[in-house]
Amino acid sequence: PPLKAEAKALDFYYGAFKALKGISMPVYENRVTALIGPSGCGKSTFLRCFNRMHDLYPGHRYDGTIQLLPDAVNLLDHQVDPIEVRMRISMVFQKPNPFPKTIFENVAYGLRVRGERNRTYIEDKVEAALKGGALWEEVRDRLDESAVNLSGGQQQRLCIARALATDPEIILFDEPTSALDPIATGSIEELVTELKKKVTILIVTHNMQQAARVSDYVAYMYLGELIEYGATRDIFMKP
Ligand code: ADP
Ligand code: ADP
Repeated sequence: PPLKAEAKALDFYYGAFKALKGISMPVYENRVTALIGPSGCGKSTFLRCFNRMHDLYPGHRYDGTIQLLPDAVNLLDHQVDPIEVRMRISMVFQKPNPFPKTIFENVAYGLRVRGERNRTYIEDKVEAALKGGALWEEVRDRLDESAVNLSGGQQQRLCIARALATDPEIILFDEPTSALDPIATGSIEELVTELKKKVTILIVTHNMQQAARVSDYVAYMYLGELIEYGATRDIFMKP
């Protein structure tokens, strides 16, 4: 498959602490890449480099690049507008984090940030994103209700719909099912598999079975280094 992004010789420091060490890795288009490895090995840090979340950490610095293809923009470049990066590369977190707003406004959020004013356009995008998040049927008559009334699994699907609304090229998932029960986990895994037809996906998980179920490629990290990378079937077939 074509490349959607590529990390090259990426080092990342929190102050004096080197959290990522020379990471080079391809990210293939319309595929799911799972980042695995023990707690503290740098999975979240690496994921956050893709959409400028690291801007939030004072004292961070990095070397190397992450190119987004085909335009080859360097996602780490401070010259590139972080808002634009986050429209193109959206994130879903471990704990569902809907805003204390209506269901509709949660999904419309990115469009509002982008300055969209056309009501019909926004309504169409919200509906499409909720369908993409497999939530439309459950909430179509409740769009003006507060999102915090939804169940945990519904909230996470709402966060996925919110991530989808700006038609991102990549969606980053940071342990998206760790806070969910097995049924909600199953529906998120199904959704991830469905979504990759349209977007490229990076998912951090500490759950090996989950990595085996949903991913096409696996990156195994240890102490800030990428120790092993390959097709999921090859990695999990190893003795
Ligand atoms: P993982 O996602 O694999 O659990 P993280 O990327 O969260 O790992 O963390 C990698 C390393 O960087 C850990 O040693 C962690 O303590 C450290 N770290 C993470 N965030 C910060 C931060 N904001 N400031 C300083 N050190 C951090
Ligand atoms: P996770 O492992 O799920 O990524 P953590 O519990 O390790 O989350 O970290 C939660 C938050 O604390 C993150 O924003 C992370 O960047 C920050 N953090 C982690 N380790 C450190 C550290 N050593 N110093 C400062 N902040 C840290």
